[in-house]
This record gives sequence, structure tokens and C-alpha cells, in this order.
Amino acid sequence: MDKIVIAIDGYSSTGKSTIAKRLANQLNYIYVDTGAMYRAVTYFALKNNFINNKKLDSKALVKSLDEIHISFQFNDKLGFAEVYLNNENIESDIRTLEVSSFVSPVATLSEVRRKLVEQQQLMGEGKGIVMDGRDIGTVVFPDAELKIFMTASAETRAKRRFKELLERGHNLSYDEVLENVTTRDRIDSTRKDSPLLKADDAIEIDNSDLTIEEQVETILILVEKAIKKRPY
Ligand code: C5P
Repeated sequence: MDKIVIAIDGYSSTGKSTIAKRLANQLNYIYVDTGAMYRAVTYFALKNNFINNKKLDSKALVKSLDEIHISFQFNDKLGFAEVYLNNENIESDIRTLEVSSFVSPVATLSEVRRKLVEQQQLMGEGKGIVMDGRDIGTVVFPDAELKIFMTASAETRAKRRFKELLERGHNLSYDEVLENVTTRDRIDSTRKDSPLLKADDAIEIDNSDLTIEEQVETILILVEKAIKKRPY
């Protein structure tokens, strides 16, 4: 068994999921997008009117957490696992600016984090997993054999996200996207429970000027090293 746990953390829109998906496909590992799980809870909150006039009713959401069942199902055509909320495919519903605007406040709630982290840890029990998020190397898998921390300038990240949203047919301005990216980073980095921070033993990759191929190649070399370094 030479499979390891790869934890990828970093700021919003650093391209973590693109890299994580490629790595998982090349290594034949499972890919888990933990951001999709926080987005699924946010989507549930919106659908149940726990967010009104831009205000989140955290008590009502926390009370309903038992009604939330999140799962992933691999889509052969897309080459990755899509997220389901109570057996409904919500993969594209969670990528809207509306969900993006409320996900960081939802992700500050300790009860939400506890529930999702527990599920994430179970998914990683068998190793052979690439998981991306904000607290994977610090909280979910503090013993992960390989931890990557991705960064890029806020403008580079907003441009990427803007292009991606336009391609998906969303109608919004670059400034709105930049504002969302910087606000999420601020909330994610300053929250009390599991803030976004680089684990001491994480390897930082600034990918502002790197192609996807270059990043994947670099990380695959790190994977080989991490497998060799294991004591067992
Ligand atoms: O990765 P993505 O940008 O889809 O994540 C959406 C949001 O979910 C983040 O901005 C953050 O608030 C929250 N999140 C988190 N912890 C994770 C993954 C995502 O708090 N492990």
C-alpha cells in the first residue's frame, strides 16, 4: 500500500480543485472538494429561507443540520465526483455568486464544521485521497503525508474566477468577483474556528505564473518523495 493523503489548502480561487482533480486522476486517488460541502450547507440554508435580507439565521440552520446529507458521486463524463444534497445533484447550483456570498459566514459556524470535518475524516480513512479546502492540513488531516498551500495574487485569482463564471453563463462584473474573493479570504482567515492558515509543514506554491501542467508536475515529484519518506 503506497497510497498517501494529500492535503491542498489555500485562498479562494487559487485553482486548488483543478490541480487536485488532475492529481487524483493521475494517481488513481479519490478527490474530495470540501468547499462543495460548505457550499451545499449554504445552498440548503438558502432553500430553507434561513438566509433573509442578507442575514443568516444560524440557530435555525444549526437546528436543521441533521436533515443535511451530503454525498459525492463520480461522473464518468466529467471525470470527477459531483456533490449531492439529500440525493439531489446540486453541483452547478452551488457555484453561483449567491452561494459564494454566504458560504464564508456559514463556514464560521463550529457546528457546521464539526459535522463536515467528521465526514471528511471518514472519507480519508483508506488513504489514496486528495482533499482540498482551507483547513485540511491543519485540522482535518494534521498527519497528512503531503500538504500543499496554494497562493496567487487576489487579482490573478479574481480574473480566473471571473473567466470561469462567464464561461458558465453567469452575468456579473469583474469587480463583484474580486470583492467576493477578497471578502471570503478575510472571513476565512480571521474566523475563530479553523481559520485558513498554512500548516507549518506545508509546502507553499505561488501559482500566479505557473501553468496547470507545471503545478501538477511539481506536486507529483513531491508525492513520490512523500511516499519514499514514510516510515512504514
Ligand atoms: O473551495 P471553495 O472556494 O468552493 O470554498 C467555499 C468556501 O467554503 C470557502 O470560502 C470557505 O468559507 C469554506 N471552506 C471552509 N473550509 C474548507 C473548505 C471550504 O471553510 N475546508
